[in-house]
This record gives sequence, structure tokens and C-alpha cells, in this order.
Amino acid sequence: MRKINSRSFMILLMTLAFFAGLTYHTVNLVIHASQWVAEPTNSHLTDVDGLEFAGKIFDRNGVVLAQSIDKQRVYNEDEDIRKSCVHIVGDNSVNIATAVQTVYRSELTKYNFTFGLGLPDKLKKGINMTLTIDSRLQKAAFNALGDYKGAILMYNYKTGEILCIVSTPAYDPQDVPQDIETNEKYDGAYLNRALSASYPPGSTFKLVTAAASLKEIPDIEKSTYNCQGMDIVGEDQVTCYEPNGIVDIKEALAQSCNIFFAKLAVALGKEKMTSYAESMGFNSRISFDGITTASSIYDVKEANENQLGWSGVGQYTVLETPINMAMISAAIANGGTPVMPYFVSMIDGKLKNQTTLGNRMMEKEIADKLYAMMDYTVESNYGKSYVSDKLDVCAKTGTAEINSEGLAHAWVTGFCKDEDCPLAFAAIIEYGNYAYSVAIPIMKQVLDTAADIYKKS
Ligand SMILES: [Zn+2]
Repeated sequence: MRKINSRSFMILLMTLAFFAGLTYHTVNLVIHASQWVAEPTNSHLTDVDGLEFAGKIFDRNGVVLAQSIDKQRVYNEDEDIRKSCVHIVGDNSVNIATAVQTVYRSELTKYNFTFGLGLPDKLKKGINMTLTIDSRLQKAAFNALGDYKGAILMYNYKTGEILCIVSTPAYDPQDVPQDIETNEKYDGAYLNRALSASYPPGSTFKLVTAAASLKEIPDIEKSTYNCQGMDIVGEDQVTCYEPNGIVDIKEALAQSCNIFFAKLAVALGKEKMTSYAESMGFNSRISFDGITTASSIYDVKEANENQLGWSGVGQYTVLETPINMAMISAAIANGGTPVMPYFVSMIDGKLKNQTTLGNRMMEKEIADKLYAMMDYTVESNYGKSYVSDKLDVCAKTGTAEINSEGLAHAWVTGFCKDEDCPLAFAAIIEYGNYAYSVAIPIMKQVLDTAADIYKKS
């Protein structure tokens, strides 16, 4: 009797173990099947890496950016559009981490769970995707960047739709260069610099120091400083490009007086500077559409007083991503809270994203003051028509010296006041040297193209 009992028990145990294993493997299969099938090691796939029946990718106007014809992946017929979209659409490989053909490959290839890849070809059909980008703006930004390395990002600060996101150097996904890994020309070509790279922000960072000062320093708007082009801050000098004369905070932002803002950073101190930088997106990453961006960095723990001063004008060790920069401008345009950006609009005919608010970056009163100051900066310093002939743009430039040869990165960020073109943007031109004469004219081409497309009158 005892023998029978122990045998029954063993059988029961084995049966339970069998079903536990079966359940584990079934669950695993259901969860991971589409992922496994798209693995490059799957010999059932051809050299288009599982994309032979993948769905179409459209831009916001229904322009086909990628589709599969006769088991081949075919990209848009316009070479400039192909190159300008490669960091968002992707190529046949999975080298570009931010591309939808990398992130959404299993959705695009729609692995059929019952039939697997054994489904007859004519029944194989991937899921389509629609992106928020506008291929006309992509092309305009790509051509405007020319031979420069850099990035341009423009998004609707009311809805969050990214209309333009271009990174250079780019390459043709239809004809990937043989020497892409070795030719210096393609340095970092797999990287989407708008999302995955960070740069010294230079004077664009004065927006952060200004936001903190407007909130924390009493009567800051009445304070003035007579800039002689050089002053001692802490242990060492802080210099300006030229003497700015008597400036208040509004004039100091417009003329980009370094000394004024370096002194503000020191007056605020490390703790407040860090706290305001962090509330404006520094020291954290943003995630959307299955990607996670690089982080903007503000770290003054080890800084002496002079270095804290330089950090307030976006030098020292401060780093910023173009996406974060665009979101700061978006927050200023939007009463202090940025709308979260995104670029996947629809998957398989279903709406993927909705407009969502990010964390508040500053109080509305502060945002409105910065809004007026960026408006004045363009009006008094650059001239409205120099930034755009067709849109009313508020902006701030930055030139961040990065090496001993004096080569600098050129930034411009801002937003449009126009009701029908609520666009926030950031552009970084690597070694562009001059924000005024290089970054603004490049951004202008994109802004004027946007006006041609979207402006109602
Ligand atoms: Zn100055």
C-alpha cells in the first residue's frame, strides 16, 4: 500500500513538473516568438533581415518612406528623403537604435503565430506604420545642414508631434556605403544626434540660469551691470565676446553677456543651479516610442566658484541633448510645461500616441518672462526676418567653445509665436563656429519651409 502511494506521488510530481514546464515554454513562446523569428540568425530569412514582407512606413502626409516589394525593402525614390529619414526609419540592419525598423521590427514584420513564416507569400503582409515627420521638412533640414555634422529637431509644442528630426552624417539605406565603418565622413553615422548625443550648450543654457534667477533673486529685473568684457568671478576671469556696456537681465540675454550670467550662477549657488537644471531636464533621460534618449548633464559638485560661474553660461562640463533643448523652448512657449515629443503616429491603423504633458519645468510667470525675453532677443539682436521671413520666431543662440583651437559648436533654439505653426526647435551644428552666421541661416531654411507648408495666410 505504501509502495503504491509513493509511486502515485512520484507520478503526480512528474505530471506537475511536465505541465509547469509546458506552461513556462508556451508562455515564453507567446511572448518572444515574434522577437525570435526576427533574429538575424534565423536562416529562414534573407539578407533583408526579416523585412521581406514588412509593412509600409508612411510620413504624416502618406508619403511612403519604406515598403517591401518582391521580398526587397524599398525606400523612398528621393535620395535626400531616404538619407534625411534614415535615423528614424532605419535601414535593413538594426544598427540605428532609434529607428522604427529597429524598435518596431517585430510589429512591422507581424509574425503570424499560427502559421509562422510558413504562411503562403501572398498572405504575408506586415503591419503599416505612420510617422509624424514631414518628408518635405526632413529634406529641407538635410539640405540645410549640407556637409556639417549636427542635428535639427522641430516639434509641435501643442501636440508633441515631431515634424522634423534630422541627424548628419546620414547615409542612403538603399545603398549603404561599403566604407561606412571606416570612412571618417561617416563618423557616428548610426547615431541619431538629436536624441543620442549631447553637446556643451553654451549661451543657450542662459535660459536655465535666467529661469532660476527670475524666481530666486529678488528684484533681479531691476539689477544692472556695466560689462567691460572681462571681470573676475571667484578665482579667475570670465570674459565676454565684446564689452556689453550697461545691461539688465533682458539685455544680458539678448546680447549674451557671459559675466552677467556667471555672476547670477554664483549668486544662486550650486544647489539651486542644480535643482533648476534638473527640473529643466538635466541629469535624466527621456523615453518615448520605445527609445531612451541620452542625458543632458549638469554637475557642479567639484566646481570652484569660477567654474560655477562658467557653468551658468553653459560652459565648464555642462552637456545638453538637442531634444532636451527643444523641450525647454517648448516649455517656455507653453506656459512652463512641455508637451512630450513623439514620432510614431499610427501602428496598423490605430493611434499610437496621444498628447501628453511632461513635468513642469518652471512656473507660468517665469515662462512668460522668458518668452518675452527670447522675443526681444530676436527683435533687438538678430532681426525677425533674419531668423524667418514668414514666421514670428523667438530664439536664443549659443556658441560653445570646445577646444584649444577655438573651434566651437553652434546652437540655436526657440519657438514660433504663430498660432498655426506652434513649433519649437533646436539645431546643433558641430564646429559651425558661429551661431549667428551659421546656425540661424540653417534653421531659417527649415522654418521658412515649415511656413510654406503649414502657414494658413
Ligand atoms: Zn558681457
